[in-house]
Amino acid sequence: MVIKKGFPVAPAVAFGAADAGVEIHQLSKWFAVDENRVQALDRVSLTVQDGEFLTLLGPSGCGKSTLLRMLAGLDVPDEGDVAVYGARVERPSLSRGIVFQDHRLLPWLTVRENIALSLHKSGLSQQEQNARVSELIALVGLMGFDKAKPYQLSGGMSQRAAIARALAPRPRILLLDEPLGALDSLTRTRLQNELIRLWEAERITVVMVTHDVEEAVYLSSRVVVMESRPGRIQSIIDIDLPRPRKRTDVRLVTLREQILASLE
Ligand code: ADP
Ligand code: MG
Repeated sequence: MVIKKGFPVAPAVAFGAADAGVEIHQLSKWFAVDENRVQALDRVSLTVQDGEFLTLLGPSGCGKSTLLRMLAGLDVPDEGDVAVYGARVERPSLSRGIVFQDHRLLPWLTVRENIALSLHKSGLSQQEQNARVSELIALVGLMGFDKAKPYQLSGGMSQRAAIARALAPRPRILLLDEPLGALDSLTRTRLQNELIRLWEAERITVVMVTHDVEEAVYLSSRVVVMESRPGRIQSIIDIDLPRPRKRTDVRLVTLREQILASLE
């Protein structure tokens, strides 16, 4: 539980190492807003190890979504580089699953069809695709809802389906942009535990955006605290506590207080 202040510099290993999960090197991004240029990210460098559960935490507008979008290949940096498992990110790929705050399921398809979509070009036989979808429906706890349409699902169930869809092609990394942000607190708590279970079951790397300090310390192996204008890394906090964790663990509560204080 060490708080490292300041800017992490370039990764020690060569850029694009296949065994590093994510490498972000001196990444900057500007947006044009009317006549002005807004700097969303300022020379952000970060390495995410294979198998980590890392959260990006910070106030609204500090560039969390922008950073995640660049990991997904949905946006490109103005300066700097991003590589995921050794490959420079240039465009979206099914090898990097992404889930947003809204489920973005196709309303005219069933749960099963939504999850199956990304498998159509996977090279798997129809039988293998069906088996993978069934496995995922069980994994996210949506048994019996195969044929439901998105409008028939609660918010939590829709997010479960969105997570299953992202996991279907067996990505090595799951990118989550406030996936539980729109849920009521009971559903949110339940899905936090489910996320941990999925992360352990699928053995993937997770990078999650949140502005909820408690969620960040409860879930993560590391928390990257960001600050805004321009978006930068303020500090990185290792949460080296054993799992399963208890929300009331005094060490977690202390970390939460420390992070909250650093954000003020
Ligand atoms: P966060 O997810 O931490 O709330 P964002 O990454 O969404 O922050 O935004 C960071 C900054 O970049 C904000 O000032 C935001 O207004 C700006 N920004 C993000 N996307 C765009 C865009 N497409 N056009 C203009 N400005 C943007
Ligand atoms: Mg955001």
